[in-house]
Amino acid sequence: MMKRFKNVNIVLPLILFVFIGFTACSTDADDGGDVIIEEEGEEGEESITELSSAFDQFSDAVTVILSSDGTQIDIETTGFPNHRSIYWETDNELYEDEPLVNKTTQDTFIGGGRGEASSFTVDAIPDLDGATVATELGTIGIAVSGSAIFNDQEGMGDLDDAAGSLDWAGAHKGPGVYHYHLEPTPITSDDDSLIGILMDGVFIYGRQCSSTGTYPTDLDASGGHTSTTQYETEAIYHYHIINEVYPAGNYAYEPAYVLFAGPFQGY
Ligand SMILES: [Zn+2]
Ligand SMILES: [Zn+2]
Repeated sequence: MMKRFKNVNIVLPLILFVFIGFTACSTDADDGGDVIIEEEGEEGEESITELSSAFDQFSDAVTVILSSDGTQIDIETTGFPNHRSIYWETDNELYEDEPLVNKTTQDTFIGGGRGEASSFTVDAIPDLDGATVATELGTIGIAVSGSAIFNDQEGMGDLDDAAGSLDWAGAHKGPGVYHYHLEPTPITSDDDSLIGILMDGVFIYGRQCSSTGTYPTDLDASGGHTSTTQYETEAIYHYHIINEVYPAGNYAYEPAYVLFAGPFQGY
């Protein structure tokens, strides 16, 4: 199984990785889906032989591809969320009227505008050398739902002013992709659920941490710390939503929590 990952360019939907991961876990008591660091790798880049089982949590919208040398992971998504929203077209079964939400524009809908698809490539092992990189406008990560994660800034102005257009998932859509700015309650609501992966290759979780069963107290400025997770038996660096209420006066579903305000720690 590992040999296939190392030597063959595999382009498969995530569901197959789920199956492979399950098979590997059931036959090898030591790996448990953990990331394994190898000595080899081009240009000194660290490589892995197996994707983290955290990727099993992503919806069918997301395709994850480990490069043949194990140093990089491609993450692609259709961008369509797997939950209800006012931003679906009204004839979609996931459409839900949200009377308190002021849509960005009335003719905006999921799948419209520039569409929803996005992709990026991350190092299989994030570069945690202490240097930080500021996030930019646009997609900064992909959530397990399939949709994009944005930071705490809004392209056309302050997020405070746009908060009234955010749906129950803390997300909205303009001409660009449907995206989350706040704690995405269909994915996590005051718990330790995996939310997604950011463009620096670091996973982000809800406000609580499975390592302690409560709110972490050792987070850095990005909401990151190093501990075990539900999916990693070895301590690994990961982000959390910082448990500070975001006072968005016109958000329909208070309390609100900013999803990720950066900076990236893993570039
Ligand atoms: Zn936005
Ligand atoms: Zn944690």
